[in-house]
Order: sequence, then C-alpha cells, then structure tokens
Amino acid sequence: MYQDLVGKVAVVTGSSSGLGAAIVRRYLSEGMKVVINYFSDSHIQQAQEIMAEYNRDNKKVAVAIQADVSTEEGIEKLFQAAITEFGELDIWVNNAGMEIKSPTHEVSLEDWRKQLDINLTGVFLGAKRVIQYFLEEEKHGNIINISSVHEEIPWPTFAAYSASKGGVKLLTQTIASEYADKKIRANSIAPGAIATPINAEKFKDEQERAETEEMIPMDFIGEPEHVASCAAWLASTESMYVTGTTLFVDGGMTLYPSFQEGKG
Ligand code: NAD
Repeated sequence: MYQDLVGKVAVVTGSSSGLGAAIVRRYLSEGMKVVINYFSDSHIQQAQEIMAEYNRDNKKVAVAIQADVSTEEGIEKLFQAAITEFGELDIWVNNAGMEIKSPTHEVSLEDWRKQLDINLTGVFLGAKRVIQYFLEEEKHGNIINISSVHEEIPWPTFAAYSASKGGVKLLTQTIASEYADKKIRANSIAPGAIATPINAEKFKDEQERAETEEMIPMDFIGEPEHVASCAAWLASTESMYVTGTTLFVDGGMTLYPSFQEGKG
C-alpha cells in the first residue's frame, strides 16, 4: 500500500481487460479514483464488474467511458470524465494496445496504420492532453506508458507492433526530458509474456506456451498483477526520483536467455 495514492485520480486506457483492468483494480484498492476506458460495448463487462465492486456506500470511485484512444475526441472524453467526475487528474496510464501478426512484406497499410495509431499515436495524444493540464495546474503529474519487451527485442512478423513500442520508448524518454524541470514524470513499463486476452489463443496451445516459457529465465508466464504492482509503485511518490526509464517486468526475458548456462 502507498498512503500517498489515497484520493489520487487516474485515467487508465484500454482498461476493461487484461493489464489495464489489473492496474485499475490495484489503483482502486490503493484508495484511488479511476476512469476506466473500454473500446467497444463487447468489452464493457469487466468495467461494469469493477464498478459494482468498488462504487459502494454512495461513493463513486470508478467510472467507465467508451473511447477510442487513437482519436483526439476519445482522449478528450477520458480527460473530461476525470475532471467532471473527480475534479482533478494526477496519473495517466497509456495502456491500450493491439497486435496483428503478419510477415512484414504482407502487412497491409491499413493494419500498419491501425497498430501505430493505437499503440503509438494513442500514447502521444494521451500524454499531450494530460501534459497541457499538468502545466496549466502546475501539477507534478505522472505518465505511465505500457510498452513491451519489444521496445527492445525485434519481433519478426510483428513489425508494426515492434515499431510502435520502440516509438513509445523514445516518446517516453523525450517527454521525461522535456518536462523534468516541471516535475512531470514519464516512465514505461515493458511487460514480457503476461497471460491476458491479447495472447489467450496463443497460450491455449501447449507447444506455443512451452516455447514462450523457454524464453523466460524465470520459467513462467507472468500475471497481470505483476505489472499492476509496478504501475502502483511508479504512480506513488516512492518512485518520485524515477523518470524516463523503462521498468522491464518480464521474468528476465530481456536477459538474452539463449546465452544461459554459458552458451554462445
Ligand atoms: P488486452 O487485449 O486485454 O488489452 C488491450 C486493451 O486495449 C483492450 O481492452 C482493448 O479493448 C483496448 N484497446 C484496443 N484498441 C483500443 C482503442 N483504439 N481505444 C481504446 N482501447 C483500445 O491485452 P493486454 O495484454 O492487457 O495489453 C495491454 C497492453 O500491454 C498493450 O499495450 C500491450 O501491447 C501491452 N503488452 C502486453 C503484453 C502481454 O504479454 N500481455 C506484453 C507486452 C506488452
């Protein structure tokens, strides 16, 4: 628990499933107020469950807003929801993302743009809007971007995804540098393989699951809560001197596991 998080307000994008939902639950259990973002009505169920669980005793601590993070209108809706419902905003988590597998020479321009629009432009739009607000209010605000180990590790057949996450890395560092003197922080969390809807189909296949586990020195696939606990620490003042960094939450996936046991 981080006492300073009690009463803080966060927007978490793409948070009606997977890592985003785990971050929302962790923030709410820390006593924060959260704007949950869902993309389509088919994704609203978990947001509704979270609201039913935490909005008790006539206290509203969670609202769910439909919005597309790849548009300025969508981002504005999320921002305005925080201000209207909770009166202020302290933390913005850019979590929404998606991936489409395809050999690079077969990726359609439409699929390329879709991944870049959501995974990178969405992060830019969210950061831009909340920085404007942090500057106006002279707030020591906090931006947390969910990138991926693929901000570092090339991922064949996922060129657009890898390019978008590599972009998030430098976008995060640039923002951190640009606004450090205003005490606005920006950091990334780079998950490795964490069991969520994004990879549910893949991990149903025993062989694919085993192949992934082989790439993880700690030998197991992570849980969304492993990422959520880092998102809580980065949101808290315990990390107040940390900016522009990427926190890898990957069981060692980025430690060149093929070199384990002195191979190579
Ligand atoms: P997920 O599919 O459960 O979550 C992604 C969320 O983004 C979904 O709720 C989806 O509805 C939302 N979304 C997609 N397009 C959107 C849009 N235009 N506007 C708003 N929301 C939109 O999968 P996840 O694993 O929880 O992914 C969360 C983030 O973590 C993503 O950025 C993903 O790239 C990253 N990540 C996940 C893993 C992993 O192993 N699970 C690893 C590395 C990085």
